[in-house]
Amino acid sequence: MEAQLLFDAKATLGEGPVWDAKSQTLYWIDILEKRIYAGEKVIAQLDKFIGCLSLRPNGTLLTALSGGDELSSFVDLRVGSSQQSVLATVSESANTRFNDGKCDPAGRFIVGSMDINEKDPIGSVYSFNGKQVTKLFGGVTISNGLTWSPDRKTFYYIDTPTRKVQAFDYDLTTGQIANPRVAIRIADTLGWPDGMTSDADGNLWIALWGGAQVTKWNPNTGQLLEQIPVPALQTSSCIFGGKDMNELYVTSARKGMSQADLQKYPLSGGLFKVETKVTGMPTFEFIPR
Ligand code: CA
Repeated sequence: MEAQLLFDAKATLGEGPVWDAKSQTLYWIDILEKRIYAGEKVIAQLDKFIGCLSLRPNGTLLTALSGGDELSSFVDLRVGSSQQSVLATVSESANTRFNDGKCDPAGRFIVGSMDINEKDPIGSVYSFNGKQVTKLFGGVTISNGLTWSPDRKTFYYIDTPTRKVQAFDYDLTTGQIANPRVAIRIADTLGWPDGMTSDADGNLWIALWGGAQVTKWNPNTGQLLEQIPVPALQTSSCIFGGKDMNELYVTSARKGMSQADLQKYPLSGGLFKVETKVTGMPTFEFIPR
């Protein structure tokens, strides 16, 4: 297996891939350039940092935006129109911003935040159900990598500097988490765990920042099952898509790279695709309750 370049986007911080099965479209974002892409096309240029987005059955996008002040917000926006509505706000330190997030299988939007200086555990993880925002936990430095097991009973989570994947029991009815434990420890030599998704076999696919690869892991044994090289050093996130849900779409970034690294990995910031032999978990939409 190898990663093929789909689009040489030269993104500063390509992230947050989301697969829309209805339109067979990959949405993704450039957090620092404040852009939303559909495939190769920029469909929205925002005035705030976008941490992540989710699709809605009505065709609008739910976004997590932060603007360099103490309020971050969940904003509903319609592509191609200036129509934006703030659905909820979260008050945090001005030194944090929203980062990775996605909808749980019941349609809640789970979004974490991070220290913009990437040093202190001042970030948190929130669950938004359309009515209220619940803080699931705090004390995280760079909130990333969230996904669920195929039976929807386990939530997997990454705080990047810990180099660990944590597992929690997940109650899909209430959205509550319990029983945190370490599922996977990632060796220093591999890179930093960033975005993550899961497949129908229950294995986890993790993009490794600084590691030029996506990796497949068994969360029950903690074992590394597969390494797929990506010709971009800062491999940031991944999601399954395609007609048969076997294509892994991989985002990357140019942020934090030396001139020498950029010469070695000129496709950094690109969007890539890996044809796998597994079926991926779908992207869940936002269903307010
Ligand atoms: Ca990330």
